Amino acid sequence: MHKLFCMSWIKKYNSPLVIAGPCSAESEEQVLQTAHQLKNSKVSIFRAGIWKPRTRPGSFEGVGSVGLPWLQTVKKETGLQTAIEVATKEHVEQALKHDIDVLWIGARTTVNPFTVQEIADVLQGTDKTVLIKNPVNPDISLWMGAVERLSKANITNIGLIHRGFSKYEKGKYRNPPEWQIAIDMQNLFPDLPMIIDPSHISGNQELIFEVTQEALDLNYSGMIIETHINPEKAWSDAAQQVTPDVLKQIISKLVIRKKTDETDEFQQKMLKLRKQIDAFDENLIQVLASRMQTAEQIGQLKKEKNVAVLQNERWAEILQKMIVNGSEKGLTKNFLETIFKAIHQESITHQEKILKI
Ligand code: PEP
Ligand code: MN
Repeated sequence: MHKLFCMSWIKKYNSPLVIAGPCSAESEEQVLQTAHQLKNSKVSIFRAGIWKPRTRPGSFEGVGSVGLPWLQTVKKETGLQTAIEVATKEHVEQALKHDIDVLWIGARTTVNPFTVQEIADVLQGTDKTVLIKNPVNPDISLWMGAVERLSKANITNIGLIHRGFSKYEKGKYRNPPEWQIAIDMQNLFPDLPMIIDPSHISGNQELIFEVTQEALDLNYSGMIIETHINPEKAWSDAAQQVTPDVLKQIISKLVIRKKTDETDEFQQKMLKLRKQIDAFDENLIQVLASRMQTAEQIGQLKKEKNVAVLQNERWAEILQKMIVNGSEKGLTKNFLETIFKAIHQESITHQEKILKI
């Protein structure tokens, strides 16, 4: 089915593709002022939320279909194409009626196969460009499922938007990116452009540049950045929106990387370094396998003496020692914790296998 996608939809825009505009359309004036400040820049598509999926009731839920003619005026006056979020079949019908160019499926909709199917059904037979945001939860199957449902409805102009994933604990990001999920998705659908949404990942203005640059370093095809003439006064997502001027500064600072370099010098050097990496990876596997064999011997001993598998103190001691050791060698604490927790879990699995025999 992957061959059914048509890559050319993105080729008609500047590369990388830039989509910008407010989280929500608030008034005709706000929409038009923002769009006029964005015209004649790297921005190709103007975004604005018409119906807003608010996590809890009581906040602004979007202006509704009265905002759609404002977007038609944007197109007429600035030449920018337009994009809105659709979350029901009625939204799609309204968007088609008002000639909106690009539709996106929001993170709260991608999680719901019934709604995605409903949207796919009304889109069947159109040649709309549809961008699919990752689901709010880190479940790649839901993201894949949405692509498959649209593809089955013969929608071929599809793109993916990476907007990060919900987490209970509050950390650096509003929605941590979990880059590996988007990378896996790119590998599963290499023909689908991946677009970064640094606004919903960051939740604040300060991280927008960093997240976008990281995405470009990973070969993403574009970005969708919330832009408001007066972010402080925005009716939704005020903290993360930037002014059109700040957006232009961000874009001018971004380093656009090439996919590869054809020179012999680069190719030779890469080949040599990649051989070294392959050798390290082989060694890692060998060392891990040997470590597990020793763990199995420990399991055997514990079995003979009827001793519990998990020895909390010993485990805490190893983890602490390895964090100190690894940090001295330039490895990050986060990485060391993740890798040693995984190794420890694998050791327990091996020991339990022995105990069960
Ligand atoms: C949005 O783009 O304004 C939006 C609601 O995004 P998400 O679906 O990623 O939360
Ligand atoms: Mn938003």
